[in-house]
Amino acid sequence: MRVNQQRLRSDIESNAEFGAVPTDEGRGRTVLTGSEADRRAREFFCERLRDAGLSITIDEVGNIVGRWEPESADPDAAPVATGSHLDSVPEGGIFDGPLGVYAALESVRAMQDAGVEPVRPVEVVNFTEEEGQRFGGGLIGSAVAVGELGVAEALDIEDADGIPLGDALADIGYRGDGRVDAADWDAWIELHIEQSERLEDAAVPAGVVTSIVGLSRCAVEITGEADHAGSTLMDDRSDALAAASEFVLDVERATNERGEVSETAVGTVGKLEVSPNAPNVIAGKVDLTVDVRDVAYDSIEYVIDEAEASLDRIEAERPVETALSHPWDRKPVEMSERCRAALHDAGADADLETLDLHSGAGHDTMHVAAVTDAALLFAPSRDGISHNPREWTDWTDCADATRVLAGALADLATE
Ligand SMILES: [Zn+2]
Repeated sequence: MRVNQQRLRSDIESNAEFGAVPTDEGRGRTVLTGSEADRRAREFFCERLRDAGLSITIDEVGNIVGRWEPESADPDAAPVATGSHLDSVPEGGIFDGPLGVYAALESVRAMQDAGVEPVRPVEVVNFTEEEGQRFGGGLIGSAVAVGELGVAEALDIEDADGIPLGDALADIGYRGDGRVDAADWDAWIELHIEQSERLEDAAVPAGVVTSIVGLSRCAVEITGEADHAGSTLMDDRSDALAAASEFVLDVERATNERGEVSETAVGTVGKLEVSPNAPNVIAGKVDLTVDVRDVAYDSIEYVIDEAEASLDRIEAERPVETALSHPWDRKPVEMSERCRAALHDAGADADLETLDLHSGAGHDTMHVAAVTDAALLFAPSRDGISHNPREWTDWTDCADATRVLAGALADLATE
């Protein structure tokens, strides 16, 4: 099967015009859900779907599905679906999302050109508000498509100005009808840029994700007593920041320990709020967050247990009080054996090397995997840079990863 690199490139470059931002280096775009840039990106996408003979469905939350149902396909058979998202972060890159959307369409065109006769329909998908830059949270379209978020609930989510998602979509003409149901799909594959450097380092054009990491976030509060930095003797202090410093190092140590068992375990204290945060005042209170991720959930449990033990020890040794809450917990998600095998086979057929790796980011696939067999395929990201106009994937890598995607889709759709 031949993927047309020029056609794929032309689609991605045309899409990059919508919301394009001036930059000294690279190529950036800002495509927020419900914006004029979003409207134009969606319109162009629908045009390209129609050009390839696909029929279009738009659901109530603006998810767009292009359906290829050739004569060989049983219209009642569960479709094989593929896609990603067209929205971006402010001043994001041109590949994060659009590569997966247009590689999906190019895969269909490659199958058409090669005379592949699928027995199942093939669907090309653009999910609404993946990045969560206007309506918070992120992954909204896919959350609705798997039933994790209700349609009405999603439509009511407001932006910072109080405009609900439903109105924003209606304004640009993309509030459709019904609900795309990912549970109807026989299988799903998303191609996405890797956003780290493993493929580039290995000089491999396609990475097959084994699992998406689980993620836990804790909020920690350490309370001491704010006091004068000059007149309070060391023995009389209750310094919340000194206590927090010990805690930060304990989280790092616990994660490193766990790293000997699972090298993908990562733990981060990335945010501290110190109050009153003044040079001449002993810190009275520190609020901080702990973010722990791994493909193995027991690593996450280990680091959080150790974090709790650290707080107990600090309370025993210092005159501070501590509290830990655990507001966010997401289990790791395994990718489907069957879809992964199809991707590896497609790589071998196309004479392209593929590599197993895990994903530190969720993507829409994380949701879809809850209701059907799902896989995530990565293309290399230069220097791992993403969410930035310097985000880059070589066009040959885009095309090679698309060849792997197209091969796997053809395999799954002819089964
Ligand atoms: Zn993305």
